[in-house]
Formats: sequence, C-alpha cells, structure tokens
Amino acid sequence: MRLEWLALAAVAVCASCVSLDGCVAPAPVGGAVAELRGRDGEPAEIVGEPEGERVRALRGYCASPRSARGAERVAASYSGALRGQGSAPSLRGRVALVTVLVDTQKRSWTRVRRARLATSASQSRALLLREARRYGVDDLSIDLVTLDATRAEVTLPELDTDAYDRFAPETVSALDREVRRAAAEALGATLDEIATSFRTQGYHSVAFVAAFPFELRARDFAMSESSFWDRDAEVAFVFAGTATGPLSYTLAHESLHLFGAEDLYTLATFDPADRRDVMQVPCATAGASVVAGTTAWAIGWRDRPPARAYPIAK
Ligand SMILES: [Zn+2]
Repeated sequence: MRLEWLALAAVAVCASCVSLDGCVAPAPVGGAVAELRGRDGEPAEIVGEPEGERVRALRGYCASPRSARGAERVAASYSGALRGQGSAPSLRGRVALVTVLVDTQKRSWTRVRRARLATSASQSRALLLREARRYGVDDLSIDLVTLDATRAEVTLPELDTDAYDRFAPETVSALDREVRRAAAEALGATLDEIATSFRTQGYHSVAFVAAFPFELRARDFAMSESSFWDRDAEVAFVFAGTATGPLSYTLAHESLHLFGAEDLYTLATFDPADRRDVMQVPCATAGASVVAGTTAWAIGWRDRPPARAYPIAK
C-alpha cells in the first residue's frame, strides 16, 4: 500500500516553476495591444498588459540556457483525472481559498512577509475572477482566508530534489504529513475538519495553500485528492520568498491544481492556444497570464474540452 501510495503521489504532484533559473521560456508578453481571437468557444484574450520591469527581468531568467525544460515535456495527453475531486471539486460557486501560515525553526512569518503574501493572494484572486468573467462564469465568489498555524513549528525533512528541482516523493509525503500535523496542533482541527466546516457554511469548494516563509530552489507543488483517498482537504505547498508578482502567479497556478487543472508545460505537444495559460507559463506574472480552454474545462468553466493539438481524456 505504501509503495502504491508513493508511486501515485509521484504522479499526482505538480511542481510549478518557482526557481527562476529553471523556468521554461515563456511566450512573449508584450506591451503591444492586440486582440487575440478565441477559438472553439473560447473567449478572446484580453491583451495589452504593460510589460513591467519585473516581467522583463523574468523573461531574462527564463531565456537562460538552463531553462530548456524540453525533457520535462513527456505527457502524451491531458488526463483530466483531477476534475471534480476532493475538497475543491471546481472553481465555481462560493469558494474559500485558505492560506495556512506555517513556520519552521529557522524562518518565521514576519509582518512584512505576511503583507507580501496577502498582496499576492489578492492579485491571484483578481486573476481568477477576471478570467471567470471572460468565460461568463457569474456564480463565482472567492473568499481569501488566512489561518495562522505558526504556533506549531514544522520540522522540515531532508529537502532532496531531482534534476528538475522537484522534491522526491518521500520528501513530498513527509512535508504533507508534517504540515497537516502542525496545522491540526495549532488550529485545534484537522484540515479535513476545517474543509467540512466551510462546506456546512455553504461553501462549494475549499482549497488550502500551506505557505512557508522562505524561498527554496525546489519548486512549489500541489497535492491533489486523487493521491490521497483517505483525505479530503487538498493542499498546495508554496515557498513564499518570491516577490509579489511571481508569487501571485504561483498562488494562482498551485490553487488551480486543487480545482482540477493540470500542468500544460509537461505535455509533449505544445498548442499555441495555451501559450499564456497559467498552467503553461511558469515565468509570467499573474497579470500576464490567462486561463485558456483546457484549464477552463478542467476547473468547471466549460462543459466540454476545447480542440487542441494534444488528446484530452474526458
Ligand atoms: Zn503545476
């Protein structure tokens, strides 16, 4: 059972690219205003975000030689397996995005860091609401909730990473276990119990982001419910040392995993229609990212998947 669990965890763990020197090259995000025509029922993208200094800097990082993540493009199809599962079945209706602040022995959440995280969470929320409107989703409301679990310290396991700066499955499971333990100790209820409590108050989806007050070379990741059938609360893990622009993007990317979206940058076939999708462009900021058709379908904003160059399992 344990081996099976670990194997599944290895498959289901997503790692977004927060380690700047390891990002895939992004699609150009220019200041030029252009109307990008939607296709197959996708709304046209809103283009024309000014290209700020940070985006330009990120593009420089992303264009570095180490950024060629070609070997990571291995998935033959978009599985859609994560749709409709766990505590965050879709990004519809009344949604609680819960940030759980956790401390370690070496680092703690200062007021400055908390403020930066709150700003980033607001930007991430704004991105999701803006994109929902483009799809005509009018039933979505997102409440940002912060739970302070810093009273119980998290003891970090050995943070071994692979060639792509991803954690080993053992590290992932150890972190997950430790964060849930610390949260339960500090909050007096498990994350599963907290998710249930939100739902009894009328929330449709409850997604948790465990936030650490420092940056790591390793990438952030999300644990979907499909890998933990004995658990309900879906949790993403974010190492929040980055500036607010990249952090807002990271929060949006990891949260969308919990609502059913999968990575697009790992697909063997690239479809240009995904080029600015939040799940595709690990080096853009939230302001420059969109939710394209495949992701929109996965999180419940479309009834059917779009036409794409890669197969999408329904
Ligand atoms: Zn991801």
